[in-house]
Amino acid sequence: MNKNLIMADVHSNLTALEAVLEHADPDEETRVICLGDVVGYGPRPNECLELLEDQDAHLLMGNHDAAACGEMDTSYFNPYARKSADWTAGELTSPHRERLRNLPDRIRTGDFGFYHGSPLEPLTEYITTERQAASALDAAQVNRLAVGHTHQPVLYRRDKGTYRGRPISGEDEFFGVDSSTRLVMNPGSVGQPRDGDPRASFVTVDGDLSGTVDLRWHRVPYDVQTTQSRIRSAGLPEPLAERLEQGR
Ligand code: ZN
Repeated sequence: MNKNLIMADVHSNLTALEAVLEHADPDEETRVICLGDVVGYGPRPNECLELLEDQDAHLLMGNHDAAACGEMDTSYFNPYARKSADWTAGELTSPHRERLRNLPDRIRTGDFGFYHGSPLEPLTEYITTERQAASALDAAQVNRLAVGHTHQPVLYRRDKGTYRGRPISGEDEFFGVDSSTRLVMNPGSVGQPRDGDPRASFVTVDGDLSGTVDLRWHRVPYDVQTTQSRIRSAGLPEPLAERLEQGR
């Protein structure tokens, strides 16, 4: 496959996921990978899982997926996250609950390792520094990693022996990367961006994930108000609706 669509942290935000798929327009040749947290926080868990299933997407387990299917204790979650995990657990159909339970916590394809958090703590570590990016690559023994979990689009790249992190703030940010470059990329979040930009964030990768690849970050607007009103009618905590319009 020479086209890849890499996304993370959909968080049951169906209108955001639909907007991403419409914009990216994946065909049968596109490998769709979601780096965990399809569910949690948002109002449409089953529908998001179904839509990704329709795309034959490769899913990883995220901490919110694990919490919603009973595979993770939620006592360390903040109260809003815990409330939404309980709500999601009650909403999930049993086939979807089973599906979540059986998700892998890592995928290896080509030169890439895929994780929700990091190779060291696949479900829970936030990679937010150059140093963590470097140790994550060493731990996974790969040249390239794609991770989610922080909801912040960023590219860490080794350049002349040192790692540099670069937050990706715009749309259509493009990087051509040769096979010798070690990198950690985060596509940002589809359903709950936290970098101050409410638009859904994702990455497309041209190339077969080995050798030279072209990485492109995208931002697409979606109907935030629809998701907000679904959050309210589900009785989920109000701050989970409000944060979406601020991208926080
Ligand atoms: Zn998340």
